[in-house]
Amino acid sequence: MKIINPATEEVIAEVEMADAAEVDRAVERARRAFATWRSVGPSDRARLLRRFASLVREHAEELALAEVAGAGHTIGNARWEAGNVADVLDFYAGAPERDHGLQIPVPGGLDVTFREPLGVVGVIVPWNFPMVIMTWGTAPALAAGNTVIVKPAEWTPLTALRVAELALAAGLPEGVFQVLPGAGEVAGARLVEHPDVAKIVFTGSTEVGKEIAAVCAGQVKRLTLELGGKSANVVFADADLERAAATAPYAVFDNAGQDCCARSRILVERSVHDEFLARFGEAVLNVRVGDPRDESTEMGPLISAEHRERVASYVTGPPYLRGACPSGPGFWFPPTVLTPSSADDRAFTEEIFGPVVSVLPFDDEADAVRIANDTPYGLSGSIWTRDVGRALRVARAVEAGNLSVNSHSSVRYWTPFGGFKQSGLGRELGPDALSAFTETKNVFISEE
Ligand code: NAD
Repeated sequence: MKIINPATEEVIAEVEMADAAEVDRAVERARRAFATWRSVGPSDRARLLRRFASLVREHAEELALAEVAGAGHTIGNARWEAGNVADVLDFYAGAPERDHGLQIPVPGGLDVTFREPLGVVGVIVPWNFPMVIMTWGTAPALAAGNTVIVKPAEWTPLTALRVAELALAAGLPEGVFQVLPGAGEVAGARLVEHPDVAKIVFTGSTEVGKEIAAVCAGQVKRLTLELGGKSANVVFADADLERAAATAPYAVFDNAGQDCCARSRILVERSVHDEFLARFGEAVLNVRVGDPRDESTEMGPLISAEHRERVASYVTGPPYLRGACPSGPGFWFPPTVLTPSSADDRAFTEEIFGPVVSVLPFDDEADAVRIANDTPYGLSGSIWTRDVGRALRVARAVEAGNLSVNSHSSVRYWTPFGGFKQSGLGRELGPDALSAFTETKNVFISEE
């Protein structure tokens, strides 16, 4: 597979793609490694993960530059991402010693629960946040005593491969954490159907997620799904309009809109719709699109020519507004604002996964909630209002896993992340992630 820099279209590496037989060999290595990894004492497992986190931190700049070159991320974002990988590893390095069971009072003996690791876990990763998403699945799985095989996206395997080298350098035994680049339909599919893989963590499109769920169902295989989104940014008339308008572009154009949490539907209360749109338009024109290595750049290119074509297919007529972007080599697409005439417009209902946003007016609170929920997705969203009662009511009414009020933040490694409805199944990150990688076993010991 030729790996292409999306900002220059230059080939920066060639990577061997694993076939099904290579996946089988990796699963066998992981299965053997599981027998020893699960019995490494909690404090030793924790120490190894902390060392792994430190090595990632030492190599953060190198990893960030690799993500800039391989995925077109802005250097500012890529530095945050490399730091997040280290933080997530550090956070779950604190878990092995705290992975306790319960002691439950029963007559005639002692009842205790154990949280047993599952075995070999397959983590299938999309191209939009390659190293971060890989780590969200991997770190808690390793902390709980599982072994892990990561299948990175075809276009973006480089940082995952480097992180796996750092894991070995940190002292994780061979076979505990492997990265296997390969095609989704070949290596990914084999991981999913392999009888010795106990769990799949899949992040990607809802379409592929459904196929994977069907295969897992045949084996009652454990599964976490992090899928698509079409999140709403709801702006009420009483909001701080200046801030709401100034921040809205970054809530959808960050990572060139290739973000499952992108607030790509902006709903604005009708009485302030025109004022918001004028301010928002100004902010969109100020988004700095260009060379992702430049520290002042706010938006880089799309991942590929193929993806750019898909994004472009959503802009069928003249948009309300279009920002600037470089011409020449690179998969550039300008920040684009649409004002659809109805909520049935394809650009308003489908996940575009590019820098295209639709703005639509609403009449009142009930109308805002109805439109926000009128989607099969439910990943994230924002609510802008100064009325704390309304903020609470709307936050409880919107069917989404990650909401923010007067802010657009959705992701902190110590709070849970995941989707309602067709945006996913299960949660990652936060205090409970280990329970997604363990089975509870109940043991009764008789006094007799
Ligand atoms: P995708 O579904 O095409 O691919 C994701 C991964 O699955 C890739 O590694 C791919 O090789 C693999 N794959 C493809 N077919 C497979 C199969 N049949 N069996 C096993 N593996 C297979 O998604 P993408 O285009 O890489 O990523 C974009 C999508 O990911 C968007 O829909 C986005 O919303 C979603 N996403 C969700 C989250 C979240 O946390 N909810 C985060 C990031 C991205």
